[in-house]
Amino acid sequence: MTAETNSPEETFALGREIGKNASPGDVYVLVGDLGVGKTVFTQGVAEGLGIEEAVCSPTFTILQVYEGGRLPFYHFDVYRIKDAEEMEEIGYEDYFYGNGVCFVEWGDLIEEILPEHCRKIVICKDLGKGTDFRRITVEGCRPGKGV
Ligand code: ADP
Ligand code: MG
Repeated sequence: MTAETNSPEETFALGREIGKNASPGDVYVLVGDLGVGKTVFTQGVAEGLGIEEAVCSPTFTILQVYEGGRLPFYHFDVYRIKDAEEMEEIGYEDYFYGNGVCFVEWGDLIEEILPEHCRKIVICKDLGKGTDFRRITVEGCRPGKGV
């Protein structure tokens, strides 16, 4: 699926739809440059899951857990991760293979430990179409597992 948005609100709304439809065990990785809208999208997901708490990028803590919604929500930002060992210290397997919903900002940095069932969301800009334009693609993580 590919969508195009022209405002943070539209990107948020797209995330909200994913959140409303998310199932236990879903793992999504968000790929895209700094400031492209990964966190805005994730905030929409949280709202779609019924989470009322404010969601911001856990850049320094790597993982933020939200228990207040329809399903547990695990928001990772692995931008500052040094190696897979650091993910092991967090106990990432309990989350990736658990019954909540995982969103992993910068997930492509930990490609080797992503589960088979994860889906990739790629957000990119196209400055020719304006500073607020974003193209958002939701795809399967592994070849042959696409939507
Ligand atoms: P990231 O988490 O990818 O680093 P953020 O979500 O924190 O990025 O920030 C995205 C920034 O881009 C916000 O300041 C937001 O207002 C702005 N923005 C402008 N247009 C869009 C859009 N179409 N979708 C998402 N964010 C947008
Ligand atoms: Mg972010």
